[in-house]
Amino acid sequence: MKTPSTGGENGENTAPESRPSNFIRDIILDDLKTNKYAGRVQTRFPPEPNGYLHIGHAKAICLDFGLADEFGGHTNLRFDDTNPAKEETEYVDSIMADVKWLGCHWDGLFYASDYFDQLYAWAVKLIQDGKAYVDDLSAEEIRKHRGTLTEPGKDSPYRNRSVEENLNLFERMKAGEFPDGSRVLRAKIDMASPNLNMRDPVMYRILHAEHHRTGNKWCIYPMYDYAHGQSDSLERVTHSMCTLEFEDHRPLYNWFIQQLGIFPSQQIEFDRLNLTHTLLSKRKLLQLVQEGRVRGWDDPRMPTLSGLRRRGYTPEAIRNFVASIGVSKTTGSIELAMLEHFVREDLNKRAPRAMAVLRPLKVVIDNYPENQVEEMDAVNNPEDEAAGSRKVPFSRVLYIEQDDFREVPPPKYFRLTPGREVRLRYGYFVTCTNVVKNEKGDFVEVHCTYDPASKGGNSPDGRKVKATIHWVSAAHAVDAEVRLYENLFLKENPSDVEEGQDVLDNLNPNSLEIIADAKVEPSLANAAAGTRFQFERLGYFCADTDSKPGKLVFNRTVALKDAWARVEKKQGGKG
Ligand code: ATP
Ligand code: MG
Repeated sequence: MKTPSTGGENGENTAPESRPSNFIRDIILDDLKTNKYAGRVQTRFPPEPNGYLHIGHAKAICLDFGLADEFGGHTNLRFDDTNPAKEETEYVDSIMADVKWLGCHWDGLFYASDYFDQLYAWAVKLIQDGKAYVDDLSAEEIRKHRGTLTEPGKDSPYRNRSVEENLNLFERMKAGEFPDGSRVLRAKIDMASPNLNMRDPVMYRILHAEHHRTGNKWCIYPMYDYAHGQSDSLERVTHSMCTLEFEDHRPLYNWFIQQLGIFPSQQIEFDRLNLTHTLLSKRKLLQLVQEGRVRGWDDPRMPTLSGLRRRGYTPEAIRNFVASIGVSKTTGSIELAMLEHFVREDLNKRAPRAMAVLRPLKVVIDNYPENQVEEMDAVNNPEDEAAGSRKVPFSRVLYIEQDDFREVPPPKYFRLTPGREVRLRYGYFVTCTNVVKNEKGDFVEVHCTYDPASKGGNSPDGRKVKATIHWVSAAHAVDAEVRLYENLFLKENPSDVEEGQDVLDNLNPNSLEIIADAKVEPSLANAAAGTRFQFERLGYFCADTDSKPGKLVFNRTVALKDAWARVEKKQGGKG
């Protein structure tokens, strides 16, 4: 097993043909039937190490690893490191960590740069066969010669150089005799092809740059289109999945393989993941990081896997989400709310409950004995009996949420207000008697009385209350910083920009709210970074990597669906 199964809907004992499928899986099933690759399924996940992986990559990863796994095949992790200018070891390391975190284990670990010698030898062969030539046109001139969708391109004046001259020049390009951008090696295909990718595409460019693995050995680097298919072929990849924008590159992918007579890997394109309110482009995400718009690649607002992890997402939630969205040949956009649904669903099952008060309001229970402390039993997870229970201290002075008290209650507000009785979760029934305000009119403390017979939260006479609120004991609570997040982009489509504006102008200025003085129950005092909780009635939270005993920091992963917020919205504003 290389990938834990996603979805979980696939019956383990059903024949592969009758399981829920998709068009790529169907191609593989067909190829297995016709024995096209002698029963082999070999895939690869080919990230360019120029940024951190994002949720879109998770879709590709689950597909590459998931399909190979289902059919007893293999998956390589291959770094597509053909652009030394933008690549760094930090990215390589983060990508490996993220793939592992998702629960995927690669068979082979490769780098396109491992193939530079072979790719060079193949380029020489193409020159010898009259299929490639050195062009002295500048990048700008090449672009002009390329033509348009409606007009054919023009041949370069250097297109018909002799094989000897091409070999000599290419050799000298490699030897470092020429400056960057002065010459390129191009495939000699067809300047009139209706497919622009086939109009003598560039195979190699000169770039005097140090490479993160090959150092200064090379000063010519292969282009993506020349490296990718041959790398697949070298690894005997059978099904090479990539996103739809490469569909028009497929004829070129096949052309190189055919001219070289090497193993015919098969490229299959699928729709890339787009999420509402989210940017999924490493280039743009890098800009957010470089400009300090977020706190780094793993900022919990980022759609990167490291950001989602830090925010509290589980690999299971991400895999279930990816399984549910499926793959197709048409690009659409998925609601961010759907991703949030899957993390709620997963955390509901596994996250222990705890009580935390984000915006504390002091409550004094006047008839509760001073200095008395009772240890109340609190259920750790109603969804998981095995999670057991814990003790939570109760005392005369508590904190509740400011939002759980109103001096003048709006319609349908059932929580604490003078004269009203509510339940304190796992505590007692309490009735509000009065509220004390300061000279500015702010609430300083709310006074209540409790019913000693209602311990644990039920009244012996069967009387009902309409609200249950959470609390922490003031003397026992632990201070915590809580970070609340909103969408990084307000617009559903962040790329929808006014003229003269940039996507970054669409950033939500209120995407991060820091609550410095929240109070959490004492059982959280030693919560390790990465530990996830449901704070009752507030949402799912995760101890941040900045968190340590004595200085707790929690990220809100996602809010619970808040029934009250919906009522309030309908009523058209806060009461
Ligand atoms: P970006 O545009 O974010 O830089 P990329 O396509 O350049 O993405 P690569 O590192 O080249 O990123 O991607 C590795 C693999 O992941 C490729 O096969 C690519 O097609 C796939 N991939 C990238 N983004 C998405 C996405 N949003 N949805 C699905 N697959 C994706
Ligand atoms: Mg790319």
